[in-house]
Amino acid sequence: MPDVNPAPAIPHYDALVIGAGFSGLYQLLCLRDRLGLKVQVLEAGEGVGGTWYWNRYPGARCDSESHSYNFTFSKELFEEWEWSERYPEQPEIMRYLNHVADRFDLKRDIRFGTRVTGARYDEAANRWTVTTEAGERFSAQFLITAVGCLSTANVPKIPGLEDFAGQWVHTGQWPHEGVDFTGKRVGLIGTGSTGIQATPVIAAAAKHLTVFQRTANYSVPAHNAPLKPEFKQWVKANHATLREVMRSTPNGHPFVIADRSVWDVSDAEREALYEAAWAKGGLQFRATFRDLLVDKAANDTAAAFLKNKIREIVKDPATAATLADIDHPYAAKRPPIDSDYFDTFNRDNVTLVDVRAAPIERVTPDGLQTREASYPLDIIVFATGFDAMTGPLLKLNIEGRNGMPLAQAWEAGPRNYLGLQVAGFPNLFTITGPGSPSVLCNMPVAIEQHVEWITDCIAHLRAKGLARIETTEPAMAGWVAQVNDAAAATLLPEAHHSWYLGANVPGKPRVFMPYAGGMAHYRAICDEVAAKGYAGFALSD
Ligand code: NAP
Repeated sequence: MPDVNPAPAIPHYDALVIGAGFSGLYQLLCLRDRLGLKVQVLEAGEGVGGTWYWNRYPGARCDSESHSYNFTFSKELFEEWEWSERYPEQPEIMRYLNHVADRFDLKRDIRFGTRVTGARYDEAANRWTVTTEAGERFSAQFLITAVGCLSTANVPKIPGLEDFAGQWVHTGQWPHEGVDFTGKRVGLIGTGSTGIQATPVIAAAAKHLTVFQRTANYSVPAHNAPLKPEFKQWVKANHATLREVMRSTPNGHPFVIADRSVWDVSDAEREALYEAAWAKGGLQFRATFRDLLVDKAANDTAAAFLKNKIREIVKDPATAATLADIDHPYAAKRPPIDSDYFDTFNRDNVTLVDVRAAPIERVTPDGLQTREASYPLDIIVFATGFDAMTGPLLKLNIEGRNGMPLAQAWEAGPRNYLGLQVAGFPNLFTITGPGSPSVLCNMPVAIEQHVEWITDCIAHLRAKGLARIETTEPAMAGWVAQVNDAAAATLLPEAHHSWYLGANVPGKPRVFMPYAGGMAHYRAICDEVAAKGYAGFALSD
């Protein structure tokens, strides 16, 4: 007799993709339209955009130049889209991603408002079952995470926050209705890329802004401006060239690192080159010399130049000294770029507080209290960053073979092969996972490479009649060593408090997470692995 109350059938797909930012959108397009797979994207937000959907804080803008912050896989798409400014602002990036989603009819296969809370691999069925916050379930042969690297907000556990009488917000979870700073005393904690972008905009709107700085940071002017028609034309006419440059440079940006050492030039020439790079602005400052990230003494010359700029711009000597008291090599932490950040400290309504010297002790009902003083506030803005790279993956509660939680497999830090797969987690792919260039690269370039590699890999399996791919322990051990070696060859690990190392989240294992060997080199490694029949992976039916 049939069951009168049968369990609802779980919808089954060839592939489930978690996230609808740059990576999820392109992965859907590749698997659905190029391979003909049945694909479902699950997205927590109510729209596409990923990181950009959530990061709506004032001043949110990308630090990749706009003509490089887009997909390059389609010449037509590249040529028809026109950015308005040198660096795209968050609303314009949202318009771009919505345009992509509509142009390729992607939204019909995305379920919005669907937060994934669990994923479990069933060995016998060779299937992943994914559970959502609302209790829905979906299953698929392949599970692909497209959750981004910087999507899990890090709100420090400061005692007393729950008793704060005012409003508090984290920049990465910004209210869609915005925050009205008019007439308000605002405290902003954090001076990473986000705090540096938000400071001038909040200062212009608020009655008073107090910036709480723990680690002083370098910043180079963005010199953002509307794009000239001639430049827009040049971009449209140079799709192939730009794509080639971005794919061949170590960091995926459309500029080439100068082939000269800091020591090839005289002191005066070096200063002139730094001045020219400062006048040009942006992340290209790093490209002034080839040895800035590998030779500490070379880096010191850039650091000295940038610290001098702070002292020149900021009028109050004590504030300038606190801002310029930077303890790490230039670009060893992700280098911010800004619009009038240092100049903002010349405003009468802005105060800098050094919370390295006198740490924040607690939030009180009416503000923040450091070891030395109390600061009455109406609004606290946490620009305190993210549980980067591993955070978004671990939050999914992924369980591999025999119920092994990913959190347990990564107890001592992330271990995987090529940043793409973890042994014990068959048919799971992690786009821009730890161990891949990801955040050390212009993200769309890293994303296109991963999505295309995963697509080719799944196409290969299907062509061979195979159903499963899983990396091996030895392949992972070898790759982890390569990731460590690549980082050790640079100055990057010298920024001890960097989120690249997980150091910004208390208790997180200190492991250098992104692959620092350069995007072009990484691409060649991945291509070779594929050409050798997916060496380092076990393929089976
Ligand atoms: P972040 O670089 O991690 O900076 C967080 C800031 O908060 C740091 O200054 C940190 O100080 C401070 N902080 C954290 N906990 C604190 C505490 N308990 N007390 C006092 N200060 C505390 O985060 P982010 O600025 O959001 O940037 C993260 C990344 O997002 C960037 O590096 C970049 O990759 C990306 N991003 C890009 C753009 C862009 O494209 N323009 C814009 C924003 C962000 P310590 O350094 O001492 O830990």
